[in-house]
Amino acid sequence: MDSRTTARQNGAVNNPALPNLPVLADPSLLQTLGHINGEWVGADDGRTYIVDNPATGEAIASAPRMGVAETDRAIAAAQAAFPGWSKTPAKTRGQILRKWADLMTANADDLALIMTTEQGKPLAEAKGEITYAASFLEWFAEEARRVDGSIISAPTTDRRLLVLRQPIGVTAAITPWNFPAAMLTRKLGPALAVGCTIVCKPAEQTPLTAMAVVELAVRAGVPAGVVNLVVGDAADAPLIGGALTSSPIVRKLSFTGSTEVGKLLTRQCADTMKKVSMELGGNAPFIVFDDADLETAVAGALVAKYRNTGQACTAVNRMYVQRGIASAFTSRLAEEVAKFTVGPGTTAGVNVGPLIDEAALAKVRAHVDDAVERGATIAVGGAAHALGGLFFQPTLLTDVPPDALMCAEETFGPVAGIAVFDTEDEAINAANATPFGLTAYFFTTDNARVWRVGEALESGMVAVNTGLLSTAEAPFGGVKESGLGREGSRWGTDDWTELKYMAIAGL
Ligand code: ADP
Repeated sequence: MDSRTTARQNGAVNNPALPNLPVLADPSLLQTLGHINGEWVGADDGRTYIVDNPATGEAIASAPRMGVAETDRAIAAAQAAFPGWSKTPAKTRGQILRKWADLMTANADDLALIMTTEQGKPLAEAKGEITYAASFLEWFAEEARRVDGSIISAPTTDRRLLVLRQPIGVTAAITPWNFPAAMLTRKLGPALAVGCTIVCKPAEQTPLTAMAVVELAVRAGVPAGVVNLVVGDAADAPLIGGALTSSPIVRKLSFTGSTEVGKLLTRQCADTMKKVSMELGGNAPFIVFDDADLETAVAGALVAKYRNTGQACTAVNRMYVQRGIASAFTSRLAEEVAKFTVGPGTTAGVNVGPLIDEAALAKVRAHVDDAVERGATIAVGGAAHALGGLFFQPTLLTDVPPDALMCAEETFGPVAGIAVFDTEDEAINAANATPFGLTAYFFTTDNARVWRVGEALESGMVAVNTGLLSTAEAPFGGVKESGLGREGSRWGTDDWTELKYMAIAGL
């Protein structure tokens, strides 16, 4: 773990020996540069930082530390490419997106290996994410031809009123490290489908996955300048973000990440009145009613809480279990949580990987300690894993009081806390007692309750009797401070288009 810190601080090293590169079937997928106007480029001043493996702390590769000048060039490239791309027939744009999706699927093993090496998630999960990421390119390849306008009934017979849906123009995307492929394609898919061009900034922890995805875009025939990738370390992010948000050329920013940074970027976008899409933090409640099917609820909890080591904005953050089923649910869940195999994501059989960095580990530890200090009991885990480094034991706490830190903030780690409730209203009120509203989960076999509770939860997405709801066909997004806009689904192109009203008179 110390070596990880050293690696991060060692960003001035250029072209270090890289003995820890994953061995790929197609080594040319492992790009280590930014992509501007169709070319792979480094930072203007040649500076790089080290991308490391959270499972080992070892350096994997160097990546460029780009800033304002490179970002401005990427914006100019996207601007130059816009007229050509937006006038490319929708069918052709769709065909290119489809080819890109197919290339991702064909290279899923290599892409997953790159992802696991820099992000930490188990290889099977990484491969699942590649399938999920490709599904957005596939979905929006199909949607490209359905970006339709409308003809409105006019108030007088000498007029025709039309609504055109046009691409918004040059756009920008800033993406996180937890789903480094899918969060990118969920923005790239609709952007390219409608005819926008784009400048993307991946998270500093996971640039290699983004670079490989862009390499496949090139192979799929995405023209130069349509997709640009600007890469930098943590300290460069505000500079790149500042250049993107202050540019009058960029007409839209789509961001996935923390609520804090999302609010900052939204404020920055106000000066040029950009359209923003914000997919921010959640604080997902997970409610189990007495009438739930026990095994369905346990299976849902395992996937909704511990997948990706709990590092998902949809991850369960608070569990509310009705008194009648509480003891059975807790003991069955504890039994299953104790069975997780923790370790490097590339090791066979591992299903919980490391956390992303020291800050993440410290937060998880603080949330457990705080809950215990306030009266919670540790049922499973509760401490750093014997493997050391960034590994934490899958943890289950009981009797978590409502004032615990883990009820208010996203834990973003493999820690679940259970609180017991008595009435349906009590559960709904507890679930809604947060400024966030991304995902909510509940388990019941009572159909009337499905409707009552589903409608009462203040949340952009509600999962009933399942721990997994994300899919390209459905609108992903939050309410309250969890964000603005929806990604995926037939509504997913809306955020990337403008409506233009045309009145044709004198007919
Ligand atoms: P997390 O806390 O999960 O890492 P962040 O919101 O910090 O989430 O990061 C999500 C993305 O936002 C990353 O690509 C990161 O580099 C970027 N980012 C962080 N701070 C800024 C900023 N001030 N301006 C622009 N981008 C930023």
